[in-house]
Amino acid sequence: MKSEIYLSIVVPVYDEADNLETLHAELDQALAEVGGGVEFLYIDDGSHDGSVGVLLGLAKRDERVRVLCLEKNSGQSAALEAGFKAARGEIVATLDSDLQNDPADLPRLLAALDQADVVNGVRANRQDTWVRKLSSHVGNGFRNRMTGESVTDVGCSLRVMRRSFLCNVKLHRGMHRFLPTLLRMEGARLVELPVNHRPRLHGQSKYGIGNRLFVGLADVFAVRWMQSRRLSYQVQERDRADAP
Ligand code: UDP
Ligand code: MG
Repeated sequence: MKSEIYLSIVVPVYDEADNLETLHAELDQALAEVGGGVEFLYIDDGSHDGSVGVLLGLAKRDERVRVLCLEKNSGQSAALEAGFKAARGEIVATLDSDLQNDPADLPRLLAALDQADVVNGVRANRQDTWVRKLSSHVGNGFRNRMTGESVTDVGCSLRVMRRSFLCNVKLHRGMHRFLPTLLRMEGARLVELPVNHRPRLHGQSKYGIGNRLFVGLADVFAVRWMQSRRLSYQVQERDRADAP
């Protein structure tokens, strides 16, 4: 049976004031056909540009909107985890709040959940500078090789997941980049689908080579360790009637 809220949209927001009205309108339109209740969780990660005011304006007009505010900028993983904990839907979808991901892709990703527990986007025609595309390419290749993975585009935030798997995942700083792997470690079936990607028109990217590529590469060793130390056992409770 479906829970009252079927889908929770979880969106981290850090200084994205000029993107939020358009984002919410696009989400609203894209999800009009999705059956079941939808909630929109916008998590403000310590913005200084008036994003919270815009979000509260959205919440005033649309009662499906919930606004969570982190006390200070705590990073994308923290914002996502706060959203995951507050989410009530059976399914959780994430996307960036800068309009680079296209909400119009969501119905297709949701439909693919009938054969999977996680559907991860792959940015088909990525609209970023060549430096960033190259750094992603190097990062993805290294991560996959070191963790025995085959995730094409971990940097793509557009994904949909069954919340029952998310509940078992503990995020650490920067670990949102390993979410598909962490979910797979919990037994989730992963599918990848191409998604649209658009240039950032308002606001600025929060990452450069220094705070993405090398930090991400260091995290690879932590994930590798977790994979190697994963608990694996079968347990069975015995009936006292079986006592000899
Ligand atoms: N973001 C956040 N906290 C941060 C950095 C980023 O909530 O400390 C959000 C940001 O507002 C955006 C998403 O995470 O919605 C991805 O950030 P960005 O677009 O800067 O990353 P890029 O697309 O450049 O990799
Ligand atoms: Mg972006």
